Amino acid sequence: MARTRSTTAVKAALRERVKELTCLYSMAQHSADPARTLDAVLDNIARSLPAAWRFPGAARGRIELDGRRFESPDFDACAVTQEAAIRIRGRLRGRVCVGYRPGGRTGRIRAFLPEEQRLLDEAARQLSLIVERREVQAEQEAIRARLHQADRLATIGQMASGMAHELNEPLGSILGFAQLIGKTKRLPPQARADLRKIEAAALHARDIIRKLMLFARGGSGCRARVDLNRLIEEAASLWTIRGEEEHVRTVCELDPAQPAIWADPGQMKQVLVNLAVNAIQAMPDGGTLRIATRRDGAWTEMTVSDSGGGIPEATKPRLFDPFFTTKEVNEGVGLGLSVVHGIVAGHGGTIGVERSPAGGALFRV
Ligand code: ADP
Repeated sequence: MARTRSTTAVKAALRERVKELTCLYSMAQHSADPARTLDAVLDNIARSLPAAWRFPGAARGRIELDGRRFESPDFDACAVTQEAAIRIRGRLRGRVCVGYRPGGRTGRIRAFLPEEQRLLDEAARQLSLIVERREVQAEQEAIRARLHQADRLATIGQMASGMAHELNEPLGSILGFAQLIGKTKRLPPQARADLRKIEAAALHARDIIRKLMLFARGGSGCRARVDLNRLIEEAASLWTIRGEEEHVRTVCELDPAQPAIWADPGQMKQVLVNLAVNAIQAMPDGGTLRIATRRDGAWTEMTVSDSGGGIPEATKPRLFDPFFTTKEVNEGVGLGLSVVHGIVAGHGGTIGVERSPAGGALFRV
């Protein structure tokens, strides 16, 4: 009799152990699939956790991470719950809980076993590792993408700079000789009109070359101590009237504790104007253009954001390429952001684009 009882106990313990191992194995399996997003992994784990508890039919699971919740249906109806903290790199980021719904035939409230708390602690530890691994992977991918982008833009920059230099000289000759011919007296009116067109076209080409040079080596300029907040306020007056005509409100959220930066004020204004004009063009039905400054350790951060339609993911990798534009022929040539990139890089800074809280584009310099 005693032997039978002990065999039953051993079998029950083994069953519990198998359930625990199955639970941890299924967590590892869920997370190992790189095609699944972290949210999908957490959702799956939250729903599958209860299977390892003593009363799986009544148990429900929930994972909370950074305020987001992943859970099996009816978790809120649970009468008793147990939980374990999810800490990632020493920081408390959330928790994992298992609860029992009241009810069943007896309507009694079920209790947890000590080994179930141990399993939950282990599940929390595994979850921390899963989240940390995914975050490290995402950071590495972002760094790789940034390096690739910087490399590509540097190569295009070298090409653009070479072309700009080669074209600058013949263009100067075209412009110079056109102006010389223009000084000839008794030039037929048609020839004079044609000359003006040559001059205008040459000036337009020179402007493009100037922008290409800025893209390729935006750093060469005249540096001085610049009060960025003041410069933003001054620059904003350049587009405020145009913005208001288009029902675009400009809002500046400037950190007063901002120290002066070492920069070329003219080029910095150009960065702002280019970003602001794009933002205004992105809000044809009006909206808000927001410019903010912030101190971030040794860095000064400026963001320019809008409430327009945003930038499609597929477009982002080509955004700073010279001549990339999605606008009509007369609206843009696709050099605005290239110039911005050149100037920012020349100042030792970085620029990135993300989705603004208002759903539009946010450029972070
Ligand atoms: P352009 O304005 O002449 O097209 P840019 O280099 O300034 O050249 O911009 C390149 C492209 O980036 C634009 O054609 C547009 O598709 C996209 N873009 C830039 N800024 C924004 C913005 N704030 N919102 C949406 N799209 C933008």
